Amino acid sequence: MRKLCHCGQEMSLDFRVLIFEGIIEIDRVPVFECEQCSHYEVLPAIKPDLLALLGELKASREQGLVLFNEVSELADVMYGIYRTWSETDSPSFESLLDQKCKERINLLLDVYGCAKGMEDQVWMEDISKRLAQISDFVNNSQFSRTN
Ligand SMILES: [Zn+2]
Repeated sequence: MRKLCHCGQEMSLDFRVLIFEGIIEIDRVPVFECEQCSHYEVLPAIKPDLLALLGELKASREQGLVLFNEVSELADVMYGIYRTWSETDSPSFESLLDQKCKERINLLLDVYGCAKGMEDQVWMEDISKRLAQISDFVNNSQFSRTN
């Protein structure tokens, strides 16, 4: 999972705390980070989720720390792999990510079936939102085609 920095160095995947307007702290946000010049950028794939979360937090005027992986399914799957994966391991991060995303989708579909069985609308909506986040990524992912 790599990307080139504007300084020419390769950036690698990392997770960090981002602070917005001095009051909203969001932890475990996946970023590409450059060791050479400390430049970092939020992963494009999770930007819509991050912006949506920021909007909600601003509207509710909540303060304090939010764990991004509890809100974004994609960030959660990435964080799970990131914690245990090492550079020397095979398979690659990308193919693991692809596989774990598909597993997560199957899990969410099961949970959705359960929520539907209980006619729990709020729960169904929550699961649909989570499903949409992660299936968008899998459907648009460059990784799923190259691996
Ligand atoms: Zn750099």
